[in-house]
Amino acid sequence: MNHYHGRFAPTPSGPLHFGSLVAALASFLDARHAGGKWRLRIEDIDPPRCPPGAADQIQHQLTAFGLHWDGPVLWQQNRDGVYQAALDRLVDQGLAYPCSCSRKQWRDYPIYPGWCREGVREPGRPVAWRLRGDLGLRPVVWQDRLFGEQRFDPAGLGDVVLKRKDDLWAYQLAVVVDDADQGISDVVRGFDLLDNTPWQRQMQHALGLPEPRYLHLPLIIDEGGQKLSKQNLAPALPTDDDAVRPLLHAALTALDQAPPDGLAGAPVAEQLAWGIAHWEVSRIRPKPHRTTEGAAPGSD
Ligand code: GLU
Repeated sequence: MNHYHGRFAPTPSGPLHFGSLVAALASFLDARHAGGKWRLRIEDIDPPRCPPGAADQIQHQLTAFGLHWDGPVLWQQNRDGVYQAALDRLVDQGLAYPCSCSRKQWRDYPIYPGWCREGVREPGRPVAWRLRGDLGLRPVVWQDRLFGEQRFDPAGLGDVVLKRKDDLWAYQLAVVVDDADQGISDVVRGFDLLDNTPWQRQMQHALGLPEPRYLHLPLIIDEGGQKLSKQNLAPALPTDDDAVRPLLHAALTALDQAPPDGLAGAPVAEQLAWGIAHWEVSRIRPKPHRTTEGAAPGSD
């Protein structure tokens, strides 16, 4: 039986762009090359940040690029009960605590100084829930499949928020619970999340959840040196086949897989079949950032 389970976990704060395509494609190819499953999880825990229609558009874009996922989509909304159960277990272990501080109060510090660790400073005010970075698993060490051994002391990263003052769940907790619930064996995602991994490992350890393997990918930056992102107005991925084909080829190129030039006009199924057969993580140059070197990212 094959135990490989990968996933793509976009936040539907807008449509996918070339940077997200590269992440989705890498995780898809890694899963399919291993003969494993590839899941889709829509990380819609922050409704104010998620415009209506974005999640549908993401699914439409993935389909246009031939990135078909296995099984039902997991939506993070309405999973309050499972997230709360995880938070309760952390609280029981003394690893999570309520915090009334505002960002403004600790703005002169590089990380939250932990003032509420021994009791809420301003009782009666709304509280967020934070993870104790100074307790639990320390140091956190893992072998990234591309960037090699990673070693962090979470005490130096600050006590990350798990549940916000407005009662919305934070990514850090939801991702840990959902990766475990979906049986994810392999996390393939952008380098910007590498330094979030220590908090996630701490929680997996405390909650007795399995440790997935991690592969962080170089981030695609534009000519101005900015990460391609919705904030930087990276163009949305197209869905018409004429535009999709060269862009898929560009994404394979951005992953250093060196697809033959002639493949650029080929149907997506053919490009993906080539990509699956030839997928080699060791070809990817382990740089935190990279430009697309001539590949035209996004175009509508
Ligand atoms: N939802 C996150 C994002 O869109 C990705 C989470 C993950 O891959 O762990 O950036």
